[in-house]
Amino acid sequence: MVKPINKIIDLRSDTVTTPTEQMRVAISNAIVGDDVFGEDPTVYRLERTAADLFGKEAALFVASGTMANQIAVMTMCSRGDQIIVHDQSHIYNLEVGGLASTCGVQPRSIPAPDGQFDLSRLGREIFHADIQRSPTTLICLENTFDLNRGLVISPKNIREVAIVARSHSIKTFLDGARIFNAAVALGCSVADFCEEVDAIATCLSKGLACPVGSLLMGTVGFVAEARRMRQRLGGGWRQAGILAAAGIVALEEMVQRLAEDHYNARLLAEGLIQLGFDVDLRQVQSNIVHVGLNSIGMGADIFCAHLLELGIKTKVIAQQEIRMVTHKDVSSADIKTTLDAVRMCLDKKIE
Ligand SMILES: *Cc1c(COP(=O)(O)O)cnc(C)c1O
Repeated sequence: MVKPINKIIDLRSDTVTTPTEQMRVAISNAIVGDDVFGEDPTVYRLERTAADLFGKEAALFVASGTMANQIAVMTMCSRGDQIIVHDQSHIYNLEVGGLASTCGVQPRSIPAPDGQFDLSRLGREIFHADIQRSPTTLICLENTFDLNRGLVISPKNIREVAIVARSHSIKTFLDGARIFNAAVALGCSVADFCEEVDAIATCLSKGLACPVGSLLMGTVGFVAEARRMRQRLGGGWRQAGILAAAGIVALEEMVQRLAEDHYNARLLAEGLIQLGFDVDLRQVQSNIVHVGLNSIGMGADIFCAHLLELGIKTKVIAQQEIRMVTHKDVSSADIKTTLDAVRMCLDKKIE
């Protein structure tokens, strides 16, 4: 008999998190104004709080991580410029070709399996303008790295890349969609990652549980131009304080608890290893568990479909690979329930 499902446990992504009660109260009480006129006090407060937290002069509240990334590149590069990206990065793979179509830049992708560029190779990949070459003007970094693994990149590595960039007079941008996870994992502040980079983006709508929103930080001049680029993309929003109110709660209340998600990811990973799955514990560094099914001998589609029947949602990333992401709506008890369900799916294979 199929057990009735009491609750869906959604491990596909931390973007599925719903706003907290405190966010809902903040949203309903938010004082708002027209943000395109620069008159929304709640947006202003969020941007000020974020700039201080990241140790940058200014911040811009935008609709999504994708928009933040695109605006950053539009602001820092000219059409035809080359930019260096990780071959597995979000900005290169998952933004609908925006680098080419919206920004008009030429991405030069470099492999970096653990998320860290080889510094000597990086130097060789930087082009200087001549009659035939377009100059490299930007290096893009990502932390946590690889949305299917969540690897934590150290402030030291980021600093080293930024120093190489500066020695060639080019800029650096850090896509820190999950930078708060990286900071909590290392016990440092998000500003520690940003000292040398020119601009950084982060998402409020992932582990921090906001309904909508991302932030882009940099100098006053950068943010002023980024604000114009946001407008160009149709991203000027009016009483956005309704959304910013949740963002302030996220920055003030939701960061430290990410440690629980990391603990639960570890718990899940250890349980899966015991059940015979291919999980590299060294790579379980934040809230994402990359699970290989090779040793289980079941395809990802079938395995995920079985799990779904038991109320567990996971994300297929390849024929024999899935991803599980922990977040505030998944408790340690849910991890236990998930492992029980996984065990039942394995039994199904034997039947
Ligand atoms: C999620 C994510 C983005 C995009 O954020 P959206 O808000 O979904 O557009 C960009 N970069 C990385 C690394 C991400 O994980």
